[in-house]
Amino acid sequence: MDECIFCKIVEKKVPAEIVYEDDQIIAFKDIHPIAPIHILIIPKEHIPTVDDLEEKHESLIGKMVLIAKRLARDLNTAEEGYKLLFRVKKHGGQEVDHIHLHLIGGAPLAERIYPIAEGDQKLSQS
Ligand code: AMP
Ligand code: ZN
Repeated sequence: MDECIFCKIVEKKVPAEIVYEDDQIIAFKDIHPIAPIHILIIPKEHIPTVDDLEEKHESLIGKMVLIAKRLARDLNTAEEGYKLLFRVKKHGGQEVDHIHLHLIGGAPLAERIYPIAEGDQKLSQS
């Protein structure tokens, strides 16, 4: 996709701090981390949202979770724990329309998943 920032990272047209890459998946540091560890794991294929997943993507999504698990171990946050998060579309707060799995950890994390109230800022720490 020409206008997709994450496709541009896949194509190395936009720089990123890449921490993992194989033929299907790439993982890189979030540019605005909300915790000491904040990695985005994405498929190289442009899939806009979780809502666009098809049966054929089953193993791809499973692999993304296993890579998150492995990165969490490598980054020493596996014992204490972490969050894995997919935001989906507008109500989920998804800003980049290329599926990405957030791996967030390295410190105790707040719960903060609740309906947004009138006048609240966008939830960015959920
Ligand atoms: P979401 O709100 O789930 O769509 O999350 C998008 C995430 O992508 C945010 O946490 C952004 O900080 C992150 N992000 C956007 N552009 C870049 C980029 N060029 N490199 C790394 N992370 C990015
Ligand atoms: Zn894309």
